Amino acid sequence: MIIASTIEEVRAQVCQWKKEGFTIGLVPTMGYLHEGHASLAKKAVSLCDKTVASVFVNPIQFGPTEDLDAYPRDFSHDCNILADCGIDMVFHPTPEEMYASDFCTYVDMEHLTTQLCGKSRPIHFRGVCTVVSKLFHIVTPDKAFFGEKDAQQLAVVRRMVRDLSFGIEIVGCPIVREADGLAKSSRNTYLNSEERQAALILSKTVNLGKSLIEKGQRDANALTAAMKENILTEPLARIDYVDAVDGVTMQPVSQLKGQILVAMAVYIGKTRLIDNFSVTL
Ligand code: AMP
Repeated sequence: MIIASTIEEVRAQVCQWKKEGFTIGLVPTMGYLHEGHASLAKKAVSLCDKTVASVFVNPIQFGPTEDLDAYPRDFSHDCNILADCGIDMVFHPTPEEMYASDFCTYVDMEHLTTQLCGKSRPIHFRGVCTVVSKLFHIVTPDKAFFGEKDAQQLAVVRRMVRDLSFGIEIVGCPIVREADGLAKSSRNTYLNSEERQAALILSKTVNLGKSLIEKGQRDANALTAAMKENILTEPLARIDYVDAVDGVTMQPVSQLKGQILVAMAVYIGKTRLIDNFSVTL
């Protein structure tokens, strides 16, 4: 597995691969990898001739009070996981390699970024769209792989690719969970044992939401109210949001019909965790 830290190295290798007629896959990550990331990497390797994974904690998607400095990092462990998945090249740039000191060009998106995580993280999706655009220009993949764990991010990337004509196929991959249901996340490492137990309220509430819809609930407010009530039974939990939105536009709905995303962000202690499910009704 090639480890590249400069844009130039990536471009040269990808150029060579393209000359040889290989298709290219890209798996963008922030590192501290777990089985969720590995599932994306394996999917990419299975569908593309050559696969690049990026490991980069993108500073411009973190707000001033967020956990950029504390974000967990373990690059050698990440390389072991990526090598096991069959990744051909890891791109691990420094922030300076990605952002010149006078960097001032951003990719911003309206509408889809105003709800859900965009409400409490106002600059987040500008940072995501900008870094993903840069990675797309650097790697020029045929396909790029994103997890449904970050469902709004997946919708935003799909829209950006369409609106800006990137010509890249975006492949969404299902949420990978711990045996007890907690969605795998690099941020789970922040949880102490009491919080780890309390964090189960997210996946339990996802299951509650699904079962209410299965039983016929079609009123979005009634659904999210029941889900919020369930979360509040956990004393360590503090709700950021629980919302039902249109699965494409990310705008709130009152009636559950068509493609729906039900998403939540919940603080467990100081750790903000997300979870979601999608349904088509
Ligand atoms: P991150 O390193 O958190 O930025 O995540 C990198 C990619 O892995 C994103 O596309 C995430 O949606 C995806 N991902 C993270 N956790 C999971 C998970 N538990 N299941 C599936 N995909 C995931």
